[in-house]
Amino acid sequence: MGFMNKLYIGGEWREASDGGTFEVLNPADESVITTVSSGTTDDAVACINAADAAFDGWAALSPRERGEILRKAYELFIKQIDDIAQLITLENGKAGGDAIGEARYAAEFFRWYAEEAVRSDGHLGMAPATGARILVHQKPAGISVLVTPWNYPAAMGTRKIGPALAAGCPVIVKPASETPLTMLALMPILSEAGVPPGVVNILPSRSSGAVVSKMLSDPRVRVVSFTGSTEVGRKLLHAAADNIVKPAMELGGNAPFIVCKDADIEAAADGLMVAKMRNLGEACTAANRIYVHESIKDKFIAIFSKKMAALKMGNGVEPDVDVGPLVNAETRDKVEYFVSDAISKGAKLELGGVKPNIPGFFYPPTVLSNVPDDADCLSDEIFGPVAAIQTFTDEKEVIEKSNSTEYGLVAYLYTEDVRRGLSLSEKLEFGMIGLNRGLVSDPAAPFGGVKQSGLGREGGKEGMLEFQETQYISTEW
Ligand code: NAP
Ligand code: MG
Repeated sequence: MGFMNKLYIGGEWREASDGGTFEVLNPADESVITTVSSGTTDDAVACINAADAAFDGWAALSPRERGEILRKAYELFIKQIDDIAQLITLENGKAGGDAIGEARYAAEFFRWYAEEAVRSDGHLGMAPATGARILVHQKPAGISVLVTPWNYPAAMGTRKIGPALAAGCPVIVKPASETPLTMLALMPILSEAGVPPGVVNILPSRSSGAVVSKMLSDPRVRVVSFTGSTEVGRKLLHAAADNIVKPAMELGGNAPFIVCKDADIEAAADGLMVAKMRNLGEACTAANRIYVHESIKDKFIAIFSKKMAALKMGNGVEPDVDVGPLVNAETRDKVEYFVSDAISKGAKLELGGVKPNIPGFFYPPTVLSNVPDDADCLSDEIFGPVAAIQTFTDEKEVIEKSNSTEYGLVAYLYTEDVRRGLSLSEKLEFGMIGLNRGLVSDPAAPFGGVKQSGLGREGGKEGMLEFQETQYISTEW
């Protein structure tokens, strides 16, 4: 199997300026899939030059023309969706169902922003004191640097590329070094769809800090859109400060999953299967702290554990596998640590909890109950297939506990009383709420967090604003 494994700059594939490469591993068997060119700071400058040369032409196309190109990219993506999903599994490890789910989600950002490209609103007003006219419209913000994580190798890229292109901005994508192949494989699709050379450039690099800093120090770069850890996001905000580069940050999460005493227990257990096990828990949206009302705890844990026990673990390329390997040894070892730490502090192991002795970064679906407050898995992102369950009796307390984190990405809440559900939702300090749903991600919805989970929104109408600048013209007639 051949892979796109070079830098893509100004519509051409090239080696890194110093000839450097890095390896990409298959997490299912730890073998090397291929090597990929590792971009340098000189290559980063070449990307900006290419984007700069392409900017005016791209921004001058009519919104309809940009929309049609994105629509074509969506259609070409769908034609190749099985191959793209396989590539996701190969480099990330996730099971086939998760990979095809991601691929569809990823493609939808091209379709959604094909439709949004022609719906960029402005408004007209009148100055109260003078009667002068206030004309407000949106302009493309400029060259945008997009930095993406390994957990959704396709979707975290398209969720940025779609709105940036719709808005008229050229981009440079810096994919995660664990999983650069999927994003590289999307370049021929974009090119065939009619994206001109230089509008989308991709810079895989092992020296991510150096190449991204180099780009942010160039005054031509106007937007940095990052998805990844809060720790790296903070560094990028510091780097963006020097040139006042517009930041969009999708950072970490620590999602509570609250099951009230009047919840539909079966539906809540199904919802938790999605909120916990989609992408085998390697998601910023993954349910990390599970709070079940004391009165229904035994029934809930029994139903949920049975569903978890039915999942089949194995190499994600095999058709009936639900749970693939984690992305790398570090992630797997961290998950193993969280489980042993919780058990040593008094948690009860209901299911799983034993790392299999086989090649690949596997860890089985695991359920912990009675997790004590001081267990590390409650304050850190688990990022793996481990459900950490606590109980509660008082609703006010569980909301306070849910809010007692520096994160604020997503919270899940199950109750049959919609009025209570809405009023508790409002009290939760999170950018997104799954009310009787274990899944909030949708291209048409504004995805994003509050507090240290981020700045800005991706998807929906809001997603395009990250790549636009508002201009106001004062005039009179
Ligand atoms: P990460 O370590 O922060 O890396 C994310 C990206 O940043 C990668 O491309 C990485 O490149 C790059 N990077 C690392 N250090 C950098 C630096 N000093 N300067 C510039 N770029 C740098 O995150 P991850 O481990 O890939 O992903 C897991 C994290 O992402 C979790 O915290 C998760 O919650 C978060 N996440 C958030 C969302 C959301 O929408 N809120 C979605 C998915 C994931 P290299 O790969 O080369 O290091
Ligand atoms: Mg990393």
